[in-house]
Amino acid sequence: MAECIFCQIAAGHKPATIVYQDEHIVAFKDRAPKAAIHLLVIPRKHIRNLNDLQAGDEIILAHLLMKIPQIARENGLLDGYRTITNTGRGGRQEVYHIHFHLLGGGNLPSI
Ligand code: 5GP
Ligand code: ZN
Repeated sequence: MAECIFCQIAAGHKPATIVYQDEHIVAFKDRAPKAAIHLLVIPRKHIRNLNDLQAGDEIILAHLLMKIPQIARENGLLDGYRTITNTGRGGRQEVYHIHFHLLGGGNLPSI
């Protein structure tokens, strides 16, 4: 998806502070952090959100979720973290390329 900013980041065509990448996923710092540490983890595949998942995406999504503890640990989230994915207008999703926010490194409000 040429016009998708997260596809551009994954392809290396738009700058971002990348903290982890492999064949399936990329993790980078959010440009407007909402916590002391705020990372975004995305699949390289353009998937709009949870509602857009298709058969076969299990492998990518499972890989992404299973890498989160390592990405968190390597980026100083040693005391735990919050993982959020916003879906659609009702979830206040801004960027329509599925992403998981990792937030922590300080006091987070309870939800
Ligand atoms: P959403 O509301 O879609 O769950 O969150 C999108 C997130 O992406 C926001 O936290 C926003 O700050 C972040 N973001 C949007 N555009 C860019 C960008 O070009 N680079 C980076 N690093 N983060 C972005
Ligand atoms: Zn995309």
